Amino acid sequence: MRFVWASGSDTGRRRPKNEDSIHPKHDGRTSGSLMVAVADGMGGHHGGDVASSLAIKAAARRVGTPEERVRAANDAIMERVLEDPRLAGMGTTLTVAELRPDGEVTLGHVGDSRAYRWRAGRFEQVTIDHTFVQEEVEAGRLTPEQARHHPERSLLTRALGFEHGLVVEVARLKVSVGDRLLLCSDGLTSMVTDDRIAGFLESGAPSEVVWALIEAANRSGGLDNVSVIVVAVAEDEASGD
Ligand code: CA
Repeated sequence: MRFVWASGSDTGRRRPKNEDSIHPKHDGRTSGSLMVAVADGMGGHHGGDVASSLAIKAAARRVGTPEERVRAANDAIMERVLEDPRLAGMGTTLTVAELRPDGEVTLGHVGDSRAYRWRAGRFEQVTIDHTFVQEEVEAGRLTPEQARHHPERSLLTRALGFEHGLVVEVARLKVSVGDRLLLCSDGLTSMVTDDRIAGFLESGAPSEVVWALIEAANRSGGLDNVSVIVVAVAEDEASGD
């Protein structure tokens, strides 16, 4: 099998700058392993763009499991804050997925950026949001619909940049030919429902899907920065191209 991917990130319609960061920043295809990542930065004197960009760079540089990549990103942000205390308070989400040619996918994840698998019309979220409202849903105190509209829906219970003992969520899944993997920041999922997102994933090249999703978020208000990565799992072409 081979992976055909596309990625995009947009400031949206309301925010003054884009504090999301993604990896890779270019589209491509490979018959080898692929690492993709989304980070959604927040807060601090200089804003979250420093944190998300540091996280993505450290995660891409670190050779290791997605969990180790997330830890390296956390350490990089904390070291930077020690060097420059004016940056204190900055943090970021980080979702890293490593896809291997045998179809094994491993995720390392902290925060409320998400990964989903689309398979033959079934659309499944494979990360758990580290948010106050998600904990309330799990405890049975809020319904998913109430959580979606809750005023504190963006409040994170876990983020990079605040403690060395950060707990990284690890998930494993399989992909096969025809599947699609989506990584995105909450600027997509807070603007566009899962049902609509699933509809976009059904057809079109990854780059078309990425930009259609970003446009959908912006048409729905574009209240936040929006980042999207789509990986399509295709047949391997022995001849290459
Ligand atoms: Ca966001």
